[in-house]
Amino acid sequence: MTQVAEPMTERAAGAAAAVVPHWIGGERVAGTSGRRGPVFNPATGAVAREVDFASVEEVDAAVAAAKAAFPGWRATSLSKRTEVMFRIRNLVETHRREIAAHLTAEHGKVPSDALGEIARGLENLEFATGVPHLMKGGYSEQVSTGVDVYQIRQPLGVVAGITPFNFPAMVPMWMFANAIACGNTFILKPSEKDPSASLYLAELLAEAGVPAGVFSVVNGDKVAVDRILQHPDIAAVSFVGSTPIARYIYETGTKAGKRVQALGGAKNHMVVLPDADIEMAADAAVSAAYGSAGERCMAVATVVAVGSVADPLVEAIGKRLPKIQVGPGSDPASEMGPLVTKVHRDKVASYLESAAAQGAEVVADGREHSLYKDSDGFFLGLSLIDHVTPAMDCYRDEIFGPVLTVTRVATYDDALKLVNDNPYGNGTAIFTRDGGAARQYQFDANVGMVGINVPIPVPVAYYSFGGWKASLFGDLHMYGPEGIQFYTRAKVVTSRWPDPGTSKVDLGFPRTR
Ligand code: NAD
Repeated sequence: MTQVAEPMTERAAGAAAAVVPHWIGGERVAGTSGRRGPVFNPATGAVAREVDFASVEEVDAAVAAAKAAFPGWRATSLSKRTEVMFRIRNLVETHRREIAAHLTAEHGKVPSDALGEIARGLENLEFATGVPHLMKGGYSEQVSTGVDVYQIRQPLGVVAGITPFNFPAMVPMWMFANAIACGNTFILKPSEKDPSASLYLAELLAEAGVPAGVFSVVNGDKVAVDRILQHPDIAAVSFVGSTPIARYIYETGTKAGKRVQALGGAKNHMVVLPDADIEMAADAAVSAAYGSAGERCMAVATVVAVGSVADPLVEAIGKRLPKIQVGPGSDPASEMGPLVTKVHRDKVASYLESAAAQGAEVVADGREHSLYKDSDGFFLGLSLIDHVTPAMDCYRDEIFGPVLTVTRVATYDDALKLVNDNPYGNGTAIFTRDGGAARQYQFDANVGMVGINVPIPVPVAYYSFGGWKASLFGDLHMYGPEGIQFYTRAKVVTSRWPDPGTSKVDLGFPRTR
């Protein structure tokens, strides 16, 4: 059984390294592949540091460390693993501001948003402290005379998580909390755009007493991902990112015999019925469309304005936009930060060009913001496009930036058709005062997560998170009860104990009657 280390009294400094290394075998390991990528400060546009890109051999080293750690970690008692999960939870809570600083520095999100991300990640750590209860199996006594049957759940072994840039702390926590609580060893391949938070989390886990090899970080790109997908000693892969990569991860990983859950992109529709509270709906649309500069998989991308609500709603949204303070996360007044890279910012801005060319009305153009024009940071102001049709690029593509589109429809049925015809099905919301209409929408929407007068319906950690259609490939949703299912497999034991005189030879198929 693994000896769980006592927590260290002093933790290594949290400052980001000039070159972000890997975390293998319980320590920082500098890359040897000779390949690196830039990590930007999105608020200034400068390259703040670099990140090592792992080779096949470096991924193999992490897998070997994880494989070696698995037998001991798996045999570590549930109560010890629970204790470690509590310590991780407390350390993340204690150091949430340092984690948030990494997020602001590399992702660009403002501190209040970064702290919100960590709070939602903490929920997953708290859920995982309940692992003794969550891993309970079932027991059936006397299924036949003197025979009992019981089911236990066991960890899979070495499992891996590949995560996107937009939640550099929360999405890893979605995965590793349940994975390691269940007794697996976990390898994280974070986004190469903002890797420092993962290294910081690795240090916290070590301080919490997670043994070497139980949690590893390999930084990198497609080379590392492809090795994870092919490595024979990795049993399961969790992925969160864009739809084309999610599809690739699912197809490649399952072909290699792995259990895979791959969460993809989104185009979340917020349906507003004519009876909705306009002020509430406008507040919600603005918060959910522009929070985190629209770089959320649960961001509202499209408002579907039904009937007479369109004009007053667009006006109410438009009125709010100039009041939102855009700026660097280092300025406490900033409510919305920059986008993650210049390439991404420019792609987002291009939809304003194509929307106008394709006949939509650009009500607010973020390219007019002074920080777009004059700063080297990757800023774009809040943008609003009205009269958008399903044929336009700005409707069809996931923009993933501070651009909200409005599509006007005549009836509830038209709105529902739009939502259900969309290839994505991550989240959706309906705004109305009519309980019957809301209940009908909840029944009808072909989408995995539904909000009723709630624009970002990210489930709490004791439910599971997952979209439908092109927003998720695989059977099980992420975190919560389905996360426990994903990271464990069932074993069913049928048992009988010697009872002198009752045993006989019988070549018939075993029957209970
Ligand atoms: P991405 O798909 O570009 O990258 C995700 C991960 O895949 C990263 O670790 C990256 O290094 C890796 N990757 C990228 N290209 C690859 C390739 N060709 N082969 C192998 N691996 C590759 O996504 P992103 O830009 O980092 O994140 C934004 C996307 O993630 C958006 O589409 C957003 O909707 C989605 N997302 C979805 C959810 C969800 O829960 N459904 C949550 C957050 C983000």
